[in-house]
Amino acid sequence: MEKVLERADTAGKKANEKGSMENTDIKYDNESLDPVNWEEMKELGHKMVDDMIDYLKDLKNQPVWRAPGEEMKNSFKRPLPVEPGDPQEIYKEFLKYVLPYNKGNVHPRFWGWVEGNGTVLGMLADMLASGMNPNLGVADHGAIYVEMQVITWLKEMLGFEPSASGLIVSGGSAANLIGIAVGRNGIEDIKTAGSNSKSKTPVIYCSSETHMSVQKAVEVLGIGTDNMRIISVDNNFKINLDELREKIKEDKEKGFTPFCIVGNVGTVNTGAIDPIEELYKISREENLWLHLDAAFGAFTALHDEYKDKIKGMQLADSVAFDLHKWMYVNYEAGCVIVRDEARHKKSFEVPASYLVKMDRGLAGAPITYSNYGLQLSRGFRSLKVWMSLKEHGRDKYARMISKNISQARYLESLVKENQKLEVLAPVEMNIVAFRYTDKSKTDAELNEINKEILITLQTEGIASPTNTVIKGKFAIRVSVTNHRSTKEDFDTLVKETIRIGENLSLK
Ligand SMILES: *Cc1c(COP(=O)(O)O)cnc(C)c1O
Repeated sequence: MEKVLERADTAGKKANEKGSMENTDIKYDNESLDPVNWEEMKELGHKMVDDMIDYLKDLKNQPVWRAPGEEMKNSFKRPLPVEPGDPQEIYKEFLKYVLPYNKGNVHPRFWGWVEGNGTVLGMLADMLASGMNPNLGVADHGAIYVEMQVITWLKEMLGFEPSASGLIVSGGSAANLIGIAVGRNGIEDIKTAGSNSKSKTPVIYCSSETHMSVQKAVEVLGIGTDNMRIISVDNNFKINLDELREKIKEDKEKGFTPFCIVGNVGTVNTGAIDPIEELYKISREENLWLHLDAAFGAFTALHDEYKDKIKGMQLADSVAFDLHKWMYVNYEAGCVIVRDEARHKKSFEVPASYLVKMDRGLAGAPITYSNYGLQLSRGFRSLKVWMSLKEHGRDKYARMISKNISQARYLESLVKENQKLEVLAPVEMNIVAFRYTDKSKTDAELNEINKEILITLQTEGIASPTNTVIKGKFAIRVSVTNHRSTKEDFDTLVKETIRIGENLSLK
């Protein structure tokens, strides 16, 4: 090391002796994007950490959500900064215009869509990951060992074969795309021939309750929604197997190429779980790829009762699940697992002279993650997953999932007990779709009343459920993937829903 520096020094002196030439002058050589004052930046950093931890500690006493006002909106219509700004002032603006308008999914009474809260250590892990700022595309460095460890642990936690491959991705949408892409690339000449493949018209099957990200994947992959067979569901919102079998048969008779079934392990509307073992059986009989969207349902594998309901998940060819939902990991983090590692790699490996693996040195990594997904440059998402798993351990996650399922059942019981409320779909897992009801009102009137109740719950900062429509009825939809919720929060929701509903009914 010293010798190298010495040599560089001599070279520098020689260059100086020659006299610096005008055109080799380096402008701004002493300028970088590092802090102008390191000590001040350190102090600011400490303050940020203190503020954010205080913010997370005090959520219960804060409104779940605040509507962005005019002043706030106008603060994001300012001219492009041309000269450097003061970090202290920038942080003040963050405190004034960004933080108070947080979406609210950190809050104990947020039950919208399917969203996790994140954790305090997860937040700090993101800071560390960002500080290290490694790129996990290629190369031999600490971060990829963390990711390998995390994937091994997730496979063990959910019961997948150790030989399966995995990748940490941005979320369920990316994981669905990757899983379905690997399945489609099993059509022998499709990677080269594309739409001129000898196999005519690849067809994919899923239920009408399937998440829209699957349709997006179908469109992006060029399969086309005309070749996406939407199979109807039964009263419990599970895929109709007879119809599925029939459609596959029909498509084969027409000379099409059925290639994939997408099953749901927890639908987003109602939490329904498709009959996974049956889907697996059909996929083997018909020689189809079985991809499962287990975005939030996967972690019920940790639940004594539910692990049987999702039995067979581990047999699927590919499985997509989120870590930022029911693992409560800070955004973003999802994962895709593919049973056949070789097929996974074959789908995404593209040779490039600048990416050739070396025996030793920086390019001598044991795994090249860019061979398993779309991204080459990829951030260090796995650090927060690794730290979270170590901080809490499998059994605590199992308890949190169990708690959320019990809370959904508790809410269901409150709704069923109360004549002013009505459950609109069976509560299979952690999702409760219900509405305020009044015998003197029509369904159309109730739809309007419930819309207003939902919006009032949100705008008054009381709670944030979101909406869906179940068999034509507007539903207040509560999805519990929240480690901060307590029983009391659901009591508040029910009490407030009735209060607002009664006020509206009187009008
Ligand atoms: C959330 C969700 C997705 C999409 O996952 P993202 O992480 O939002 O990309 C897909 N399927 C289901 C069932 C989901 O709940």
